[in-house]
Amino acid sequence: MVYLKSENEINKMRVSAQLVSRTLAEVARYIKPGIKTGYLDSVAEDFIRKNNGIPAFKGYGHPGNQFPAALCISVNEQVVHGIPGNYELKEGDIVSVDCGIVKDGFYGDSAYTFAVGSLHESVEKLLRTTVTSLYKGIEKAIHGNTVGDYAYAVQTHCEEQGYSVVRDLVGHGVGRNLHEDPSVPNFGKPGRGERLRSGMTLAVEPMINMGTHRVKTLKDGWTVVTADGKPSAHYEHDIVVREGYAEILSTFSYIEEITKFQIDNNFLDGQARRD
Ligand code: MG
Ligand code: MG
Repeated sequence: MVYLKSENEINKMRVSAQLVSRTLAEVARYIKPGIKTGYLDSVAEDFIRKNNGIPAFKGYGHPGNQFPAALCISVNEQVVHGIPGNYELKEGDIVSVDCGIVKDGFYGDSAYTFAVGSLHESVEKLLRTTVTSLYKGIEKAIHGNTVGDYAYAVQTHCEEQGYSVVRDLVGHGVGRNLHEDPSVPNFGKPGRGERLRSGMTLAVEPMINMGTHRVKTLKDGWTVVTADGKPSAHYEHDIVVREGYAEILSTFSYIEEITKFQIDNNFLDGQARRD
C-alpha cells in the first residue's frame, strides 16, 4: 500500500528530514582519527532529543534482536546497519552514518558517507560516484516515471565506473512509518517497477560497492558487509515525487558546511536544479 502525502503531511516530513540533516552535520564535527563510533552515536542521540525528536532506529527490529543505537555507523567494507561501539576511526577510513528520526508522527531517514582524513584516490572516487548516482536517480524520480527509471539511472552511472550496486538492500517509501511501500531498488530497467505519482515520499539510498555486489550479514545480526571485503559507500535522501521534478526534503548542505566536500553535480538539495 502506497500512501500519497498531503502538503500538510509533507511539511511535517520536511521538518523531520531537516532535523536528520542537522544531526548528521553535528556528527560531522566529530569525525576524525581516534574518535570512537559509539561517541558519534551519543552526540547524535543528545542532539536529536534536545530538538524534540526520537531516534527511530533505537529499538527497531524484532524482540530479541533490536537495533541498540540511534545511528547505523558502517565503516569501510561495512555496507549498512553497522552498530556503533568501540571502533576508533583512523585516517583513510570511510564511514557511512545513517540517521532516522520520528517527530510529530513523521519519519526522516538520511545517510552520508564521510571521509576520515584524506582518502586513497580510488576510495574518494567511489564516494563521488555514489553521491552523484543518487542525484542522477532523483532527477528521474518524477510523476509518471517508474522506480525502474530511477534505478536504471543510478545503476548505469555506477557500473560505468566499474562499481556494483547492492541487490539485497533497497530504498523505500517513508512517512508515517520508517519503511513504507514501495521498495526502491537501485538496479533495474527503464519503465519497469512501481509507477511514481505526485505526493509519493521515498527514501532513496544507493549502496555502491567497489568490488562484488554480494553482501553478507555478520553474527551480530545487523552489520552488512561486502562479501569480498572491499569498500562500500551509501548516501540517502528523502524526496517527494512531484510533476516534472523531485523535491529533496533532506539536505547535505549542513554537512558540507562542516566537511567542505563539494558535490560535483548540478543539483542543490531542496530545489530541482542549479543552473
Ligand atoms: Mg537510512
Ligand atoms: Mg532508509
